[in-house]
Amino acid sequence: MTVRAILTLKGRDCVTIAPDATLAEAANLLFEHRIGALVITGPEHRVVGILSERDIVHQLSILGGGALTQPVASAMTREVVTCTEDETIPDLMQRMTTHRFRHVPVLDRGRLAGIVSIGDVVKHRVAELEREHDALKEYIATA
Ligand code: AMP
Repeated sequence: MTVRAILTLKGRDCVTIAPDATLAEAANLLFEHRIGALVITGPEHRVVGILSERDIVHQLSILGGGALTQPVASAMTREVVTCTEDETIPDLMQRMTTHRFRHVPVLDRGRLAGIVSIGDVVKHRVAELEREHDALKEYIATA
């Protein structure tokens, strides 16, 4: 199974924000969409950064409420780990575990084509385990 299976189910929409938006605007977007990270895009949908709720909390702990008027660019991570739709789900899980982050943007020919969160991966894995379990039960019942 590959990342494509997850995107086919959940869709390819990805909420983005500009690097010069404020952290208050970013927090509003996260809240509105009930998500944990935003991708920062430049020209031609190229990914230039990622901002997760943890980055906002980090800035708040340093600057207090004044953090909210700071630009997204001041808090985002610029070295973004991405994947493609052809990556296998076990490989993606491995990368998320190694790097200890919960979001991975998906690229298609260098352009943003979706995002996968640890929640999406876990949901997919649970469904897969349930299918295996049902298949085994049926096998035993009909053997
Ligand atoms: P998360 O666990 O996704 O909330 O993110 C934890 C930290 O890792 C934050 O500083 C994020 O900016 C950063 N981060 C999240 N996803 C990625 C990614 N795909 N590539 C690089 N850094 C990331």
